[in-house]
Amino acid sequence: MSASNPAAALPQSLWAATAAPPIPHTELVHDDSADVCVVGGGFTGLSTALHAAQAGAQVVLLEAAEPGWGASGRNGGQVIPGLKWDPDALECRLGSERGSRLVEFVGSAPDLVFALIDRHRIACSARRDGWIHAVHGPAALAAEESRVRQWRTRGADIEMLDRDAVAAALGTRDYLAGALDRRGGWLQPLDYARGLARAAREAGASIHGGSPATDIRPVGDGWRVRTDRAAVSARQVFICTNAYTGGLWPRLSRSLVPLVSYQAATEPLSETLRSQILPKGQVASDTRRLVRYFCMDPEGRLVMGGRGRFRATATREAYRHVESSLRRIFPEAAGAKLGFCWSGRVALTLDSLPHLHELESGLWFAGGYNGRGVALATAMGRALAALAGGARAEELPLPPSPVRPIPFHRLRRPAIELAVAWKRTLDAWETPR
Ligand SMILES: Cc1cc2nc3c(=O)[nH]c(=O)nc-3n(C[C@H](O)[C@H](O)[C@H](O)COP(=O)(O)OP(=O)(O)OC[C@H]3O[C@@H](n4cnc5c(N)ncnc54)[C@H](O)[C@@H]3O)c2cc1C
Repeated sequence: MSASNPAAALPQSLWAATAAPPIPHTELVHDDSADVCVVGGGFTGLSTALHAAQAGAQVVLLEAAEPGWGASGRNGGQVIPGLKWDPDALECRLGSERGSRLVEFVGSAPDLVFALIDRHRIACSARRDGWIHAVHGPAALAAEESRVRQWRTRGADIEMLDRDAVAAALGTRDYLAGALDRRGGWLQPLDYARGLARAAREAGASIHGGSPATDIRPVGDGWRVRTDRAAVSARQVFICTNAYTGGLWPRLSRSLVPLVSYQAATEPLSETLRSQILPKGQVASDTRRLVRYFCMDPEGRLVMGGRGRFRATATREAYRHVESSLRRIFPEAAGAKLGFCWSGRVALTLDSLPHLHELESGLWFAGGYNGRGVALATAMGRALAALAGGARAEELPLPPSPVRPIPFHRLRRPAIELAVAWKRTLDAWETPR
């Protein structure tokens, strides 16, 4: 299967402006062979490469642009445990044995992130002060209380905050309540991606930037992955391209719905505002259908994000909904100048679960984190590395599933535009004035 090259320049994000420089990542210019070839240098691919190399495999990673170029270097940095699915519902859907394995996997994913940061001394301003799931309206309150009960019975360090407590933690009275989940936290995402790339290289993996895989086909008992300039032969290949999946394996991109998430960061706020907004260093996302999420960076910039229209456009118009969220939720900071606006793609799945596919023998794909991939993609990479090391698919936390292209996928743009407008309307109806 063949694909065209994605664009290469890093977006002008706050993270690109403040991150430490990347490790040198040369293009693949000579043919190479390895046990494992990883396509895509985001958290999934980098974690796969790191863990597989640590387990003794020869690993070559091909990234079209540079490690962290995709969602991994652009996201909100929120380290979030769990899925959109509640633990009870997961166990009901997958059966108690498989379901509880997946619950354990997603609940403990932040532990892996913070352990990797410690072990590999990744300087990414990481803090583990908790993640707040802020409740936007009465309809979401009962569901949040139930979610907290379910996690607490499984031993998670999570508690409900009432209206006053959530207002004090967030610095806004815009929310009815919230759940403070102490398993979560924050990191500078591009620094984390670059740190994983360095750790993977130190473990022995070859990391190539500027090397988009353009073609992948079976050769002997393995695979040959071509770039414009050379090729890698490997027994096993892991495609980790998530929402940036192009035509490399066409059915794949048709099984995901890419949605654009936009972020804007203010200039550093005054000391007074910094002592009021997220004073304890926590980060937050809310229960709206079109999630709004916010954090404070180490220099006191308020970063606000939200999902929007299908296309990533550079116009001011595209960021208007993020600016209006900022004004509504934090009116005191509404006058602050915006220093950076940027966007990236999240991959949604129709069942809101991450997907793991064995496309052919020895050729795997994992992705579809539905906007919660900082912890999950890192943990998924470790699971992919276990596969590379000989683990059986049944032993994995997530059962592999067949690729299911979404019917009428080519109509996704108008369909997403409609869905976004409809969800925005429902969110507005549910939010008390
Ligand atoms: C704006 C935004 C905010 C977000 N906020 C959060 C958050 O706060 N918390 C959270 O948990 N999640 C968040 N997410 C989601 C999270 O960032 C993603 O789920 C996660 O980064 C996915 O990692 P990945 O490695 O699978 O994919 P990516 O990081 O997207 O990496 C895919 C890589 O594949 C490369 N690629 C594509 N095609 C090829 C090819 N043919 N050959 C070689 N390389 C190729 C791309 O260049 C890209 O670098 C956010 C996402 C966005 C966009």
